[in-house]
Amino acid sequence: MDHLPIFLKLAGERCAVIGGGEVAARKARLLLDAGARVTVTAPELCEALADLARQGRIEHRAAAFTREALAGVVLVIAATDDRAVNAEVSRLARAQGTPVNVVDDPELCSFILPAIVDRSPVVIAVSTGGASPVLARLLRARLESLIPATYGQLAQLAQRFRERVKRALPPPARRPFWERVLQGPIAGLVFSGRLQQAEEALERELDDSTQRAPVGEVYLVGAGPGDPDLLTFAALRLMQQADVVLYDNLVSPAIVDLTRRDARRIYVGKRRADHTMRQEQINALMIELATQGQRVLRLKGGDPYVFGRGGEEIESLAAAGVRFQVVPGITAACGVAAYAGIPLTHRDYAQSCVLVTGHLKDGTMDLDWHGLARPRQTLVIYMGLLGLPALCEQLIAHGLPADMPAAVVQQATLPQQRVVVAPLGELACKVEEAGLHPPTLVIVGDVVKLRDKLAWFEGAPDRGRAVPVLSAQAPEQTADH
Ligand code: SAH
Repeated sequence: MDHLPIFLKLAGERCAVIGGGEVAARKARLLLDAGARVTVTAPELCEALADLARQGRIEHRAAAFTREALAGVVLVIAATDDRAVNAEVSRLARAQGTPVNVVDDPELCSFILPAIVDRSPVVIAVSTGGASPVLARLLRARLESLIPATYGQLAQLAQRFRERVKRALPPPARRPFWERVLQGPIAGLVFSGRLQQAEEALERELDDSTQRAPVGEVYLVGAGPGDPDLLTFAALRLMQQADVVLYDNLVSPAIVDLTRRDARRIYVGKRRADHTMRQEQINALMIELATQGQRVLRLKGGDPYVFGRGGEEIESLAAAGVRFQVVPGITAACGVAAYAGIPLTHRDYAQSCVLVTGHLKDGTMDLDWHGLARPRQTLVIYMGLLGLPALCEQLIAHGLPADMPAAVVQQATLPQQRVVVAPLGELACKVEEAGLHPPTLVIVGDVVKLRDKLAWFEGAPDRGRAVPVLSAQAPEQTADH
C-alpha cells in the first residue's frame, strides 16, 4: 500500500485552491461538499468559479500565487496550468506541513484524491495510487451500479438507532442484530423508499432481540479447490459474518484471509498422517461453540459432501439440535477439469464419470474394479497418490488398456498447479519421477486426450497461467501458456 486512505474532517476549515479554471472549479466544489471554507487564488476566474464567488460560497483572492495564499489553511490543491507555479505551491505547502495535491502531477502531491462514490454518510473512495485513474473510475462505475442510491438512508437509520442498540444489546448480540437489519427485509424497506415502515420494523426487531438469547449456528461451507475466484457468493457472505472459523489444510491461505478479520481462526488439520484434531473432536468443538451462541464457519476444501465427511458433521449437529446451513463448493474434479483442460464427460469419449476415493485402508484399496475399468467412462480418483501404483495395476488387470490416457493434477486451480500426463501403464512411474505431492487428483479416460486441444486456446483452462506440464510423450518439462 503506497498511500494510507483516510477521511478528513474539513467542516469549517480553511482550504486553498490555487488556479481559476474549470479543473480548479471542480476541486473547489468537492471541498465545499465536504463543508470546507474555500479561498481560490487566481488573477481571473472561469465562469463556474465566478458564480460561486458571486453566491458568496468561495472567497476570491484576485492575485497571482504567493506564500500568503497558504496562511492558515489546512489543505491546498494546486490546479494552475503552469507547472512552475504548481511546483512552488507544492514546495511551500510541504515546508509548512500542509497537505498538498497538485492535479495530474503525482510527484508534487503529498496526498491524492480518490474516485468517490457518495452515498453520504457512506462514502467509498477508490484509488490506484496514481497508477491508473481510468481504472479507478471504472471501478467506481461498477460500485455505483452495485450500491443502491438509498444506501445513505440506510446508514442514517442505523445511526439513529446506534446508541440505543448499544445500550440494549450485549456485544456478542450486536453484530448479528445489525447484520439482520442491514441485509434483511428492513434494508429492503429502505431501498424501496418506505422509511417510516423501516423505522417501525427496526423498533420491533430491537424489542424482539432484547428478549431473545443469541442463537449459535454452524455454516458448513465448501471453499472450492483453491482459487479464491471459485468461491460462491453464499460462501463469501457466511465467511464474512462467522465469529469462529474451523479450517483444514486443503483450504488455501488466500481463502482463509477472506474470512472476517476479527473472527477466531482454528486450524483443525487433517493431513494424512497429521490429524491435528480427530473428527469426533471437531464435531464436539462445533457443537460447543454454537451452543455458546457463536456463528461457526466450518470451511472445507472443494464440496463438503464430496469425500468431505460433511454428512457425518451434519449428523452430529442435528443430533445435538444445533442449527446449520450447508453451502456447496466446486469439487476438485470440476476444478481440475476446467483448469487442466480435461472435460469429465464428452459425447465422443465418455458418457459417464465416476468419482472414487483411492484412500488406503490397512494398506489395501477395496474398490469395485470391474465397475471402474469400463470403456467410455471417466474415472476420477481422490486421494489416490499414495496407492497410485496399485491403482493402475488393478485397472489394467481388470481390462483397461495400458495405453489408456491418464493424468495426475497437483494443486489444481492454484498458480502452482502441475499436470503429469501419461498412458495408464506408465503413469505411476512418471508421477514418481516428477515428485508430485498431495493434494492430487487422478483422471483416467479418453477425455485426457482433449487436454492438448483445450489447454491451449487463449484465456481458457489454464487461464493464461504458466503451468508446468510433464508428459510421457515429451519428457522434458515445458511451460504451458
Ligand atoms: N471435499 C473435497 C475433497 C476432499 S478429499 C472436494 O470436494 O474436492 C481430499 C482430496 O481431494 C485430495 O487428496 C485430492 O485428491 C483432492 N483435491 C482437493 N483439492 C485439490 C486440488 N486443488 N487439486 C487436486 N486435488 C485436490
